[in-house]
Amino acid sequence: MNKAFFLDRDGVLNLDHLPYQHKMEDFEILPDVVPALQKLRDAGFLLIVISNQGGIAKGIYQHSDTQKLHDYFSAEMSKHGITIDAYYYCPHHPNVGKCICRKPDSVMLEKAMARYNVDPKQSYFIGDMDRDIEAGEKAGVNTIQMRANTSLLKAISHIN
Ligand SMILES: [Mg+2]
Ligand SMILES: [Zn+2]
Repeated sequence: MNKAFFLDRDGVLNLDHLPYQHKMEDFEILPDVVPALQKLRDAGFLLIVISNQGGIAKGIYQHSDTQKLHDYFSAEMSKHGITIDAYYYCPHHPNVGKCICRKPDSVMLEKAMARYNVDPKQSYFIGDMDRDIEAGEKAGVNTIQMRANTSLLKAISHIN
């Protein structure tokens, strides 16, 4: 079985400074992300991003906008030898319609765990919101809550 590090996106990998961020010019990768992901990669974790993108259901932006940001992030990380193994995002919003994938539900994590044969006991979910932690607990992985827009490297300093 594999071990995975599941990562919330906004506030963990990129600066969370606007509601419903979707424009490339607003997308700023946080400073410690490269060394943090290198450390996790070297420790043998799959790197999988798990995020809520409810702005899609609300019509504020499109799947293609989200895809562009993810392609950009992957390209930036690959310059440093880091592969992002997968992105899962929930495009729904409770104001528009119900779904079962939006965090704090754990369906995105469970899908990823099934697809990548992930052992939850050896895996982690890091996020900045209570709903991230709740989703991680439901999926049976270890959880880490960090303050938004702070150092990912510090938040994972106890992982080896
Ligand atoms: Mg977040
Ligand atoms: Zn959903």
